[in-house]
Amino acid sequence: MTDNSSECSIQVVCRFRPLNVAEERAGSKFVVKFHQNTEECISIGNKVYLYDKVFKPNATQEKIYNEAAKAIVKDVLMGYNGTIFAYGQTSSGKTHTMEGILDDPIKQGVIPRIVNDIFNYIYSMDENVEFHIKVSYFEIYLDKIRDLLDVSKTNLSVHEDKNRVPYVKGATERFVTSPEEVMEVIDEGKANRHIAVTNMNEHSSRSHSVFLINVKQENMENQKKLSGKLYLVDLAGSEKVSKTGAEGMVLDEAKNINKSLSALGNVISALADGNKSHIPYRDSKLTRILQESLGGNSRTTIIICCSPASYNETETKSTLEFGRRAK
Ligand code: ADP
Ligand code: MG
Repeated sequence: MTDNSSECSIQVVCRFRPLNVAEERAGSKFVVKFHQNTEECISIGNKVYLYDKVFKPNATQEKIYNEAAKAIVKDVLMGYNGTIFAYGQTSSGKTHTMEGILDDPIKQGVIPRIVNDIFNYIYSMDENVEFHIKVSYFEIYLDKIRDLLDVSKTNLSVHEDKNRVPYVKGATERFVTSPEEVMEVIDEGKANRHIAVTNMNEHSSRSHSVFLINVKQENMENQKKLSGKLYLVDLAGSEKVSKTGAEGMVLDEAKNINKSLSALGNVISALADGNKSHIPYRDSKLTRILQESLGGNSRTTIIICCSPASYNETETKSTLEFGRRAK
């Protein structure tokens, strides 16, 4: 952690997935080198990259959750806001990390584990504390916000509440009372995401998906209230689009993804630099929505996801650089 971590708590962790079958078949080599006595750095060639934590390809979903997400959940239950992002090129393991297989206890990713932990906490509390948990689920595509829990809402706007905190106006909010209900909401959102598009894989790599968990609690004995918001973001693929364009990719899409990911990078690096005077939140819808949940008093974890294959070396280096700017 850097010295200013207490003021601006941004944690950057890096996860490498295993080589996949296609990469192995193509004879792709493992380009990254893990160091023996530390879990904080890796190297490619003679270049060394440092993070709060590095996860090797064999790291379990449970390990990722325990070491990269669990602490934020605790803070959210104490009334802080937080954000967890997965950043990386398409096929680098972002969705595997954030969602995994929702109902498989071994393969489930960060989101279902968070949900379980929140409800376990609630069940462990005495009855004097009342909890209200609500969730929203939307995606941002071409800088338009589409509600995944109500397909009729295709262009939601960002407004500010009376405390000047930005929020997505009109986004569906579902009150939930058990982990199973949350999983149903996620399934519903994912199904809606599929319905509107013809090629899901392409689409999901070009849009950001945002799952929001809002935890409100009130102690009935002393009326003490706490409220915490947690944004869980599976970002659009970070791959560069060549001048000729990725297959089927419209130039508008490519420009838009670049713009919103670089807006995010600029906000995070301004926060990491301790630059309090101007944080360019207004440069994209994503950063505006996250304003109160990035920097300041809130907790942020960026999970940068990488392929280890030589074939993807250029993209991997660019992902590693993104993570570095946040430190
Ligand atoms: P992304 O969301 O970044 O496009 P995915 O999460 O869909 O990438 O991952 C691509 C493929 O690789 C999926 O089939 C996924 O199950 C697999 N995969 C990703 N990360 C891992 C990992 N750490 N261990 C095993 N398989 C993984
Ligand atoms: Mg994905």
